[in-house]
Amino acid sequence: MQFDLRRFIASGRARQEQTFDCDLTGRDFAGSRIEAPVAARFAAEADGDEVRMTLRASASVHGECARCLDPVQLEVQVDAGWTARERDLDDPDFELPVNEAGCIDLDDWLYQEFLFQVPTVLLCSADCPGLCPQCGRKRPCSCPAAPEQSAQPDARLSVLKSLLN
Ligand SMILES: [Zn+2]
Ligand SMILES: [Zn+2]
Repeated sequence: MQFDLRRFIASGRARQEQTFDCDLTGRDFAGSRIEAPVAARFAAEADGDEVRMTLRASASVHGECARCLDPVQLEVQVDAGWTARERDLDDPDFELPVNEAGCIDLDDWLYQEFLFQVPTVLLCSADCPGLCPQCGRKRPCSCPAAPEQSAQPDARLSVLKSLLN
């Protein structure tokens, strides 16, 4: 959805609020996905020569555990606020996605906000033991434990022994 910020500023700035469905199903969130359209709420209101905008939404994010590759689902919230002035529309460094006509692309803005919120590393649980390097299954598996390192003779101990002799 587009929000015509230039017209909003020119038109006397009555508070505006709307909900819209945003389809982010084709977008990538560091390997995770949002698989259903998101109901988002957008509001804009004037405050002096500034326009305050808010964008809110929540979505189920689907990804996989970085250790065991099991599917992981989590709820992610976006609650973003932004203040803009008319001159921002001509500023090349303005951080919201705006076109030459002064319209903000709310879908792109929402995508940016979700991208900030979705963790780049998902875990099925904080202490996920991950996959066994021997059989490739999720731990604990039935593989014998890896040989103990202490089975190797310790060089420092043998030096000590030779001193004692
Ligand atoms: Zn896991
Ligand atoms: Zn194993």
